[in-house]
Amino acid sequence: MVAVDGPSGSGKSTVSRRLAAALGARYLDTGAMYRAVTLAVLQAGVDPSDADAVAKVAMDARIVIGTDPEKPTTRLDAVAVDREIRGPEVTGAVSAVAAVPGVRRVLVAQQREIIATAARIVVEGRDIGTVVAPEARPKVYLTASADARAHRRSTEADADLDATAVDLARRDRLDSTRTTDPLAKAADAVELDTTGLGIDEVVTRLRALVGAVCD
Ligand code: C5P
Repeated sequence: MVAVDGPSGSGKSTVSRRLAAALGARYLDTGAMYRAVTLAVLQAGVDPSDADAVAKVAMDARIVIGTDPEKPTTRLDAVAVDREIRGPEVTGAVSAVAAVPGVRRVLVAQQREIIATAARIVVEGRDIGTVVAPEARPKVYLTASADARAHRRSTEADADLDATAVDLARRDRLDSTRTTDPLAKAADAVELDTTGLGIDEVVTRLRALVGAVCD
C-alpha cells in the first residue's frame, strides 16, 4: 500500500491515479469522501460549524467510493455526485466539515475497510501516512510552491488564479492547524517537491520508490 499525502494542488490526485494504474492497483481518493459528507451537510441545511449535527450527517450518509484508477466514482445515498463534490460550495465548506472529530472517526474507519479489501492500493489524502495507515510503504509527501499549486488548480477548474490562491491558502491553514488528524508529513515519509516537475517525471520517481520498497 502506498500513502500519498500533501496540500491541495500538490499533484496528489493525478499522480496517485497514474501510479495506481501503472502498478495494477486500486486508487482511493479520501478527499472525495470528505467532500461527499460536506455535500450531505449542505443538502441537509446543516451549519458546517455545528459539530454535533455535522457528525450525525456523517454517520447517516451512505458513501460509496469506486476505486478503479481509470474511473474513480463517488456516490452519496446511491446518487452519483462526482461533479457536485467539486463545486465551489463544497470546496468552501469541506475543511470545516473535515475538522469535526466525529466525521473523521466515521470516514477513517471506512477508509481502513476499503484498504483491507484491496491487494494493492494507492491512497491519497492529508493523514494517510500518519493516521489512516501508518503501516503503508512507501509513504510520500508531495509539496509544491504556493504559486505552482494555485496555477495547477485554477487551470484544472478553469477558475480565477487569485481567487484560487486565496482559497488554497485558507484550506491549507485550516487543514494543517486543526486539532484532529491535521495535514502532516509522517516522520518516515519521502518528501517530493513537484514544483517544475511534469506528471510523468513525478510518477517515474514514485515508481522507483515503490520498486525500492518491494525489492
Ligand atoms: O484532496 P481534496 O482537495 O479533494 O480534499 C478536500 C478536503 O478534504 C481537504 O481540504 C481537507 O479538508 C479534507 N481532507 C482531509 N483528510 C483527508 C483528505 C481530505 O481532511 N485524508
